[in-house]
Amino acid sequence: MTTIVFNTKNDTQTQQLAQAIGKKLKGSEVFELRSDLGGGKTTFVRGLAKGFGSLDPVASPSFTISNIYRSINKKLLYHYDFYRLKEPGIMSDELSEVLSNSRDVVVVEWGKVVSDILPESRIVVLIEVLSETERKLTMQFYSKFSYLFTALEKRVV
Ligand code: ADP
Ligand code: MG
Repeated sequence: MTTIVFNTKNDTQTQQLAQAIGKKLKGSEVFELRSDLGGGKTTFVRGLAKGFGSLDPVASPSFTISNIYRSINKKLLYHYDFYRLKEPGIMSDELSEVLSNSRDVVVVEWGKVVSDILPESRIVVLIEVLSETERKLTMQFYSKFSYLFTALEKRVV
């Protein structure tokens, strides 16, 4: 398991960091984003989707639970937000099905309720609020995902 830490000074920097990662996505990656409300999870997804070549605007799926963005490379980015879900119910079936389709990218906010469905082999991004505009992003992943994080430091700091 590898851990890397980034500090961002504003939401643009968080988006740029996520965008640089999004550019390297191949498909089949799963992200779990953890933070308090307003930490910057959806902001991160906005950058990730942009880097992935999304054709659709990113919106918070806190009411719809899931959003799907198409990308120029014909792959999909599934964006889930389980904040309002007390029980996974049929969402666990839907999520399991999506996860078994290896072509696409899956990003989950508030994933605790589906933690037994999420693959062990995923990228966990923990966002901590340091001040109104500063965030600490701790990313944990297996070495098979190292290709997403090469040469990132230079771009961000
Ligand atoms: P979440 O999805 O975790 O609830 P959002 O991404 O919807 O959070 O909201 C994060 C809020 O924090 C946005 O209003 C964003 O502009 C603001 N913000 C301020 N600084 C940062 C930063 N460094 N990184 C990300 N968001 C930031
Ligand atoms: Mg959100």
